[in-house]
Amino acid sequence: MPAVMETFTQGRYELLINNEDAMVTLGGNLAEAMQRRAVVYLHGELGAGKTTFCRGVLRHLGHQGAVKSPTYTLVEPYEVNGHRIYHFDLYRLADPEELEFIGGRDYFSEAALCLIEWPCRGQGELPSPDLEIILSYHLPGRKANIVAHSEAGKQALGKIVALQEGQ
Ligand code: ADP
Ligand code: MG
Repeated sequence: MPAVMETFTQGRYELLINNEDAMVTLGGNLAEAMQRRAVVYLHGELGAGKTTFCRGVLRHLGHQGAVKSPTYTLVEPYEVNGHRIYHFDLYRLADPEELEFIGGRDYFSEAALCLIEWPCRGQGELPSPDLEIILSYHLPGRKANIVAHSEAGKQALGKIVALQEGQ
């Protein structure tokens, strides 16, 4: 069995992402693979590529405009071709309970795809993830570790692996 599939059977997948375009492609593959109602955590230090990945997700679903980290507003809602996507950046969240003030629970109860940058800042107030994506520097590119936490996450990860490896 190839090493990549071996790690995948354990609900994990590690891959190198050599440039920005490849990060956008990975986001697109997640959009292709994931159910419309899902929670995705994005870990990684500043500049690791979290927002670039989200741009790939949104582009694939049909969003044409810019995608910026909602660093000050904490959440940016998108409605694209009947899909609802909430892009969170919790970097500036001082206390997880502040999520209440931006109506966090309402977002999570909807049939939406929630992409959450800096989920550690919202610990205890966030729904558990279907997938966790851990991005790190592997210069000049990046490395991604994708971990599935739910049945839906495992199924999506299988499709992501197939899409990535088929390229
Ligand atoms: P974050 O949201 O994690 O802070 P960004 O998505 O804003 O990071 O990306 C920071 C920079 O890294 C951007 O200039 C982006 O083009 C670049 N970048 C993203 N993914 C990659 C990659 N796989 N390889 C090289 N550069 C990347
Ligand atoms: Mg960002």
